[in-house]
Amino acid sequence: MISASQALRRLREGNHRFVSDAPSRKAVTARVRRSELAAAQEPFAIILGCSDSRVPAEIVLDQGIGDLFVIRVAGNIVAPSQVGSVEFAAERFGTRLVVVLGHSRCGAVVATLEALQQPTGTTSRNLQSIVERIRPSVEPLLAAPPGCGPDALLEHAVRAHIRASVSQLRHGSKILEELIQEESLLIVGAEYSLETGFVDFFDDVPEANGTPDFPECSKAME
Ligand SMILES: [Zn+2]
Repeated sequence: MISASQALRRLREGNHRFVSDAPSRKAVTARVRRSELAAAQEPFAIILGCSDSRVPAEIVLDQGIGDLFVIRVAGNIVAPSQVGSVEFAAERFGTRLVVVLGHSRCGAVVATLEALQQPTGTTSRNLQSIVERIRPSVEPLLAAPPGCGPDALLEHAVRAHIRASVSQLRHGSKILEELIQEESLLIVGAEYSLETGFVDFFDDVPEANGTPDFPECSKAME
């Protein structure tokens, strides 16, 4: 199995090909790959991404079948079945890298902000369970300094939520904590831009706690 940093490099290179409109030929050689993979798989990265139709992990990262173990759920939330899926892949296949892949203008984050700003009480219990998982990371942002408009607020909420999901995964299970301690697993956040197609990998992911200050808020408004 390749290392986490090699895996990260492959993903960056794949996204660069996607952004440059120069995808590899992996998709067209799928038939050969399929028979190779029928007996076993060895995905080099685990992706926890949003279900948004505009962010298919294999396409935006230009990877083929057998390359990525992908978990998709609205709002890339971390609930027990997501943690279990990551544990499964990390233990079973020895995959060294996990990427929480959020994206700009995420509808689940928008829905959470709306629920917090104008609670209507009409949300379904199931949808509410997603909002509740996003709420703790975006709630502190609502105490935003004056001058932070809705677009900037959403931008910060998306990133805060990705960071919170990373933190929850890192501490969400004894198995994952042990793998991280052994340096057998790296969990990072990343944000896909719907506008540019670029994936911004967060190199340094601070723990999500307390009210973040965001001096760049006014800059995001420009
Ligand atoms: Zn989304």
